[in-house]
Amino acid sequence: MPNINKEQIKFLVKLQQIEIESSKIKSILSSVDHRIEALDNSLNDFEKNIKDEEAVISELNQKYRTYESDVQMNLDRIAKSKAKLRSVKTNKEYQSSLKEIEDLEMINSKIEDEMIEFLDRIDRAENTLTETKADYSGLVDQTNKERAAIKEEVAQGKRRLVQLDANWDNISQSIDSELLEKFNKTKAKQINGIAIVPVKDAVCWGCNMNIPPQMYNELHRFDHLINCPHCERIIYCDDHNGRSE
Ligand SMILES: [Zn+2]
Repeated sequence: MPNINKEQIKFLVKLQQIEIESSKIKSILSSVDHRIEALDNSLNDFEKNIKDEEAVISELNQKYRTYESDVQMNLDRIAKSKAKLRSVKTNKEYQSSLKEIEDLEMINSKIEDEMIEFLDRIDRAENTLTETKADYSGLVDQTNKERAAIKEEVAQGKRRLVQLDANWDNISQSIDSELLEKFNKTKAKQINGIAIVPVKDAVCWGCNMNIPPQMYNELHRFDHLINCPHCERIIYCDDHNGRSE
């Protein structure tokens, strides 16, 4: 059994605090790529929406131009028929040309109604696109801010890790090597990596179970290493910071 005293226990607790903080920082750092990727994805989704909306508008405009040229073509035909009217010889020819003109005018009138409808659709699609672009530009600003914040968080985290590593080295040098080994072995067995926990009012703070009275008394002496009989973590008496006080 490694020798212990209050000082050694204090060092172990400190070591553990350092490790907990380090692992929190490391987990934040490891999530950075994922967070950046999520930002990129939402921007990409928006860009795709903009392209889709632009494609719709371009298709509507193309269709509108087709209508325009159809109307023009019909107008040319109407002009020709009107010119023909002046040179027809029979009433039948005259009626036939007149009918042709009327039909073409009717077709054009229908196309023109359709064109008005299309102008309206183009207008609405352009409004939607303008809104989407405004939202996108807001998102770009927000994303840039988030990126900068993440970058700062990473820089801060890395600086803190360097500090913590140095603190860990310092403190671990003051700990009895056998005790340190015991600490590391205990830690390896725990899913959450917590090797040392306080006992307050005879309750282990690692597993919330009661410590047997005899063991609880021994804990107050701080003269040998004691493990919780339930969760096997190293335990130490911390009644000064008990729950009731
Ligand atoms: Zn326990």
